[in-house]
Amino acid sequence: MTETVTNWAGNITYTAEELHRPRTLDALRALVAESSRVRVLGSGHSFNEIAEAGEGGVLLSLGALPPRIDVDTAARTVRVGGGVRYAELARRVHAHGLALPNMASLPHISVAGSVATGTHGSGVANGSLASVVREVEMVTATGDTERTSRDDARFGGVVTALGALGVVTALTLELEPAYEVEQHVFTELPLDVLDAGTFETVMAAAYSVSLFTDWRAPGFRQVWLKRRTDQPLRPFPWAAPATEKMHPVPGMPAVNCTEQFGVPGPWHERLPHFRAEFTPSSGAELQSEYLLPRRFAVDVLHALDGIRETVAPVLQTCEVRTVAADDQWLSPSHGRDTVAVHFTWFEDTRAVLPVVRRVEEALAPFGARPHWGKVFTTPAAELRARYPRLDDFRALARSLDPAGTFANAFVRDLLGD
Ligand SMILES: Cc1cc2nc3c(=O)[nH]c(=O)nc-3n(C[C@H](O)[C@H](O)[C@H](O)COP(=O)(O)OP(=O)(O)OC[C@H]3O[C@@H](n4cnc5c(N)ncnc54)[C@H](O)[C@@H]3O)c2cc1C
Repeated sequence: MTETVTNWAGNITYTAEELHRPRTLDALRALVAESSRVRVLGSGHSFNEIAEAGEGGVLLSLGALPPRIDVDTAARTVRVGGGVRYAELARRVHAHGLALPNMASLPHISVAGSVATGTHGSGVANGSLASVVREVEMVTATGDTERTSRDDARFGGVVTALGALGVVTALTLELEPAYEVEQHVFTELPLDVLDAGTFETVMAAAYSVSLFTDWRAPGFRQVWLKRRTDQPLRPFPWAAPATEKMHPVPGMPAVNCTEQFGVPGPWHERLPHFRAEFTPSSGAELQSEYLLPRRFAVDVLHALDGIRETVAPVLQTCEVRTVAADDQWLSPSHGRDTVAVHFTWFEDTRAVLPVVRRVEEALAPFGARPHWGKVFTTPAAELRARYPRLDDFRALARSLDPAGTFANAFVRDLLGD
């Protein structure tokens, strides 16, 4: 590479010769049509080689294309360009009195890159961010544009597609009227109060709920409740209200986080944990996450408690969220209401990888599906068995991209090609 391009975390240095930044859609189409290996780099917030084009491949950024955000207030939709990030999108949508139903922990990530990996927030009734996609516009290997909307039988394959089908140049998303959210933080929720019923009570206490632990003790240091002001807060007695503003990563300043103490504010300034103008999370980290059937949530937490002495030494924070089932074939929350267990590790690959393997062993009996954009070691053959529509996805990839232009090593390994 003539310039060094890394992911946000700095643990991956992309090996392509150059990062191409076409300025027009026509230039992008021409570049794709003349290249035999292409991958798109979004905002680079993934922690593994999912975006890697490989030696001789073309790595492409959509960052220099005009950042289209076209809001249709009558239809309550927005058509958003393939390089746009949630922070810009949310501000524009809110200015039209409209909203997205959910966001991830940070607004810094690109929309196309996020839905490509099944990125999610929390909420017992909230699906992954891909759930609101109504139409996908994609430049395929020939340089032509394919539009796929929900009434197309292939739609289940094209949103959470890991960048394996083409360059997503625009997405149409469903919106709803703007709403306000308050954030309430509680502390010290013991693990032993959680059974199947009380876990559901806690996770349904507000529109979006996150539990945080450092696994140094059997319980959760922080419980974040994001309450829509048009919906109730359902209090529970097992944790106490925080007495100061908090950051989910121990030692990090709370000023980086969105407003707490129940101060109402616009949806997009409360649903993410981290403010757009600040470094999200700790900034020096690796991440892993596993998505499992929600009905196993309490067993999953006890399985992790059983290995907490292995996990805690390399852990900054662990977050537990819920995601409603969706029907994207490669979504980690495909077909099952989900509990998502996330780990923010220290930035030390050698120390972290053996612990990741240990976590995967502990979670394998529950059919854990790793987040596509985070660190995992589960062999592809095991992953394939956890995705009932994987064969359909492989067939779709072969029909849209017969020469495998968009199939990097990550995708070939997954598909067993
Ligand atoms: C601090 C931090 C916090 C995070 N919090 C959350 C969270 O709350 N919830 C969660 O689920 N995840 C979270 N993530 C993970 C993150 O959401 C995913 O890694 C997501 O994929 C990031 O989007 P990106 O644009 O940076 O993707 P990239 O890493 O740039 O790319 C991811 C994939 O998308 C493809 N892609 C990107 N753009 C396009 C396009 N236009 N067309 C075709 N393919 C494309 C790439 O080829 C690649 O395969 C977090 C990550 C960080 C660093």
